[in-house]
Amino acid sequence: MKKVYLGTNTKMYKTIKEHVEFVKDLEEGTKDISRDDLELFVIPSYTSVGPCNEAIDESLVKIGAQNMNWADEGAYTGEISPLMLEEVGAKLIELGHSERRHVFGEDDITVNKKVLASLKHDFTALLCIGETEGQKNEGYTDKIMNIQINVGFEGVEDKDIDKLWVAYEPVWAIGENGTPPTKEYVEKTHKKIREILVKRFGEKGKEIPILYGGSVNNENFEELIRIDEVDGLFIGRSAWVSENFLKIIKRVMEIKKENKK
Ligand code: PEP
Repeated sequence: MKKVYLGTNTKMYKTIKEHVEFVKDLEEGTKDISRDDLELFVIPSYTSVGPCNEAIDESLVKIGAQNMNWADEGAYTGEISPLMLEEVGAKLIELGHSERRHVFGEDDITVNKKVLASLKHDFTALLCIGETEGQKNEGYTDKIMNIQINVGFEGVEDKDIDKLWVAYEPVWAIGENGTPPTKEYVEKTHKKIREILVKRFGEKGKEIPILYGGSVNNENFEELIRIDEVDGLFIGRSAWVSENFLKIIKRVMEIKKENKK
């Protein structure tokens, strides 16, 4: 069975105590699942990264950070450096989330600097990409995927390819006002993303996990995870209550076993 990637970014929600309870619930509820089959990850607020890591076995739940500056240190008020995240045990850095791009104005060049810094520090770099509603309506989705991947991964060396993950999160599908996409749309876009990755990295591009995120919920997660090029789900709101996330995880594992995918 191909490994499945399931995780959540809790954005600016949950206290340290709530995060610790959350990751402990996830650890306990999934301890019977082989980590050859499942990569489970949680990306909490910075203040919770260290406490979450201390509370659980990091081989069972990978803990990440929601953003990171590219510099090791410097006069960057309000930023967090790779060294600081290393110190608290982060393993994964989420970069280019739609809210970073559209609320905080990050562009692809900035995201690329952060990707390269993540790899230099041996983190897994989770690059989030996705088109806006306007770009989709104008037929620019493939072009946007091309730019966000090729600029985001500019300068990445072959030796680091196994530290890259991609999350396709269409901006129009994310959050409370988001519209869940059709299965066909996700299928088509993931295929395109795979093509772009293979063009960029050759055969090794086939191994980069592509996760889908944006209004994944109890009604649509089954059909999304059954899509061939969907290697995992990056879930927001529907994963923030551990009981619900655990239900999703268990059902996904059953589906994967049935399909031996
Ligand atoms: C997100 O913000 O990355 C996300 C996937 O959110 P939601 O699932 O709540 O739409």
